[in-house]
Amino acid sequence: MDNYELLVERIARSAGIDKSEVERKIEAKKAKLSGLISREGAAQIVASELGVNLDQQRLKIAEVVQGMRRVNLHGKIIKLNPVREFNKNGREGKVASFVLADDTANIRVVLWDTNHIALIEEGKINEGDFVEIFSANLRNGEIHLTSFSDIKLSNEKIEGVVTSASFQNKKIEFVKQGENVKVIGTVVKLFEPRYFEVCPECRERVVDGACGVHGKVEGQKRVIVTIVIDDGTASLRAVMFEEQLEQAGAEKDKLFGENAADYLRELLEGEEFIVNGQIRNNEFFNTLEIFVESVEKADAHKLVEELQKLIEEKGIAA
Ligand SMILES: [Zn+2]
Repeated sequence: MDNYELLVERIARSAGIDKSEVERKIEAKKAKLSGLISREGAAQIVASELGVNLDQQRLKIAEVVQGMRRVNLHGKIIKLNPVREFNKNGREGKVASFVLADDTANIRVVLWDTNHIALIEEGKINEGDFVEIFSANLRNGEIHLTSFSDIKLSNEKIEGVVTSASFQNKKIEFVKQGENVKVIGTVVKLFEPRYFEVCPECRERVVDGACGVHGKVEGQKRVIVTIVIDDGTASLRAVMFEEQLEQAGAEKDKLFGENAADYLRELLEGEEFIVNGQIRNNEFFNTLEIFVESVEKADAHKLVEELQKLIEEKGIAA
């Protein structure tokens, strides 16, 4: 389930009405505002009209959606970054950040208030601690704490926090550098595969048959392929290695064969995939690209189901 669906569920639960009714109200609100608002934004208006105050509720991390203000969360600090000093446009200050995880997802949290930052500097809040966060804002997929927000240690523990990177559903036109995103798009182009060798010990690149650390080694052959995916809002270069190409349905042997490029074009072009990865800047082309961590073929059944739902909602006979 994505964040939006979780949000609809919470509103339905809190208001004591059916999920489908909440969805209908959200669609109606969106239509009334001539589509000038996202469904997440419309959901928040519907929530407040139903007397559901999301501000005062503690949300799960996976329920947080773009544009939310005064978010309350509870989770474990799974990675604490060193406090950083900055000097930007004549403004000096400090900023602290950590990754907060609960049993649904994890998210980067950024602290701007000196009192909050002092808690970290003085060792009162440490990696591994559980904390409660009040009145934070969601900005570009991150939780930001200002002086209107609060953070405190919590004795309440959560089992099985999600430590692997969480990928936020995004349209390609909205992706930003550094984000971990999930995009769904069609492969519109594939560049020639490139090959290189790595050291079997340390996985570092092998140059002229030698590893910088382990000397002369029998290099392991690897392949890197750049494709372009398009989701209707924009296109994006996606970088994949053999692990991801295999997830996309490729046979390993054929990746290293003579006609690998043709084989991959035949296999991937025109197909739709769900791609999880990190957005990075390709310095050579000065363009954003997604460094793919995992990929799966978009489930045709799921897409059909969503279409049917849409048809039912609009009252069109199937
Ligand atoms: Zn090595």
